[in-house]
Amino acid sequence: KCRCYADPSVEMESTFAMIKPDGVSGNYTRDIKKIISDSGFGIIEEVMVQLDEDTVKNFYAEHSSRSFFPRLVQYMTSGPVLIMVLDKANAVADWRVLIGPTDAETAKVTHPHSIRAMCGLNLQRNCVHGSDSPQSAVREIAFFFKKSSSGFYSKHDEL
Ligand code: UDP
Repeated sequence: KCRCYADPSVEMESTFAMIKPDGVSGNYTRDIKKIISDSGFGIIEEVMVQLDEDTVKNFYAEHSSRSFFPRLVQYMTSGPVLIMVLDKANAVADWRVLIGPTDAETAKVTHPHSIRAMCGLNLQRNCVHGSDSPQSAVREIAFFFKKSSSGFYSKHDEL
């Protein structure tokens, strides 16, 4: 894997992306990865994992008091997910634009070319995740991946 930057003056940013269980089981992985590459992102690391309840509860801890939380945990543990680190200038904001609004039904109307419009079903089953800020990206990448001294990512052993 190579972190070769064509233009050293361009500041790279990393974001955390995930293809959720409905995206993987619906066979959207290849299409989504093509959109990622065509949009100028480097896929720095990608791993398919089956999340357990505790991992999802920790990852989405900010939503733990919400009524949708138990169903969210059920959904996110219903099958394997593809977790990724994506690199690009302005990666966090640009990936959020590409995935579209949280509610896939809304996305189909307001952002028909977004990834969630393409493969999401509704407010919950929206097929992809993206960090919502640079701070979230740092937390979420570190949540799933460890970074070696040479700069390479690998998933935490317990995942
Ligand atoms: N979600 C849900 N019901 C809601 C809001 C969110 O099931 O009313 C799920 C949905 O899968 C969403 C995730 O919880 O992607 C996290 O919600 P957030 O508001 O952080 O949206 P996101 O950042 O993923 O767009």
